[in-house]
Amino acid sequence: MALLEVEHLKKYFPTSRGVVHAVDDVSFSIEKGKTMGLVGESGCGKSTLGRTVIHLLDSTDGVIRFEGEDVTHPDKPTMHKLREQMQIIFQDPYSSLNPRLTIQETIMEPLQLSKRFDKTQLPKEAERLMDLAGIEKRFRNAYPHELDGGRRQRVGIARALALMPKFIVCDEPVSALDVSIQAQILNLLMDLQEEYGLTYIFVTHDLSVVRHISTDICVMYLGQMVETCPTKELFAHPLHPYTKALLSAILTVDIHHKNERILLKGEINSPINPKPGCRFAQRCPYATEECHQPIPLQEVTPGHFVACCHVKDINNL
Ligand code: SF4
Repeated sequence: MALLEVEHLKKYFPTSRGVVHAVDDVSFSIEKGKTMGLVGESGCGKSTLGRTVIHLLDSTDGVIRFEGEDVTHPDKPTMHKLREQMQIIFQDPYSSLNPRLTIQETIMEPLQLSKRFDKTQLPKEAERLMDLAGIEKRFRNAYPHELDGGRRQRVGIARALALMPKFIVCDEPVSALDVSIQAQILNLLMDLQEEYGLTYIFVTHDLSVVRHISTDICVMYLGQMVETCPTKELFAHPLHPYTKALLSAILTVDIHHKNERILLKGEINSPINPKPGCRFAQRCPYATEECHQPIPLQEVTPGHFVACCHVKDINNL
């Protein structure tokens, strides 16, 4: 059963220069215990999408369902419940940590607010969460500025887990970390997922990371989804010209891989008042007049959806 379903979701930001279509008619669903990777260049709307589905931002249009219930416009009690069940891990937890609280106090804070534990239980529960997140005992009375990036991210993870959520948006959680630390944090997230049946949206611009952690992938371009399918299928058979270009950048690092790197020419269009039609057209080598019509996602092979009117010709299908 799908834990989260999103239908035709839109998030627009009115500005003095026009309306920014940050997320524009995006639909997908995630089954319990799975990880949906959201990938694309910076500014493609992936973080906005993640924050909109957990109601850190109000949606402009569309439907959000959580465990089958329509939670697009939640009343107060529903919002309270969602705040516990849907959490987020930020790229830079430092900015969300109070510099005046020790790590233990930081982790006790959401426990205290939830009123699930009485005062005497709080330190023990915080200990349990710090053990889970692998925060060493010697750092538990330290302040955030005394920790390195990896340990701070472990604090962010412990805080996110405090209210026993079912669903977590991981918003570029390892982008600011060294590669060796990245692997530790990714492994921690996967272990926690297995132990607690967590469901993740994993937002990243790094395809190597998303390949490691995601069961399914959505590729976004300028606020829209251009391709979605299981991760293995995407890496084996990328079909959209934009996805092919993104993947060529990491696959050519492998010296045995014969494919050439595809260099994208042209600028990304503005997300302000975008024209109808394929938003990748300006950079796409296959673009024709037909591409200026609205292009819906279509199922090209079983479970593999692509928004491209020439997808069959391009891939000889
Ligand atoms: Fe390229 Fe046209 Fe396909 Fe867009 S719809 S990706 S412009 S071929």
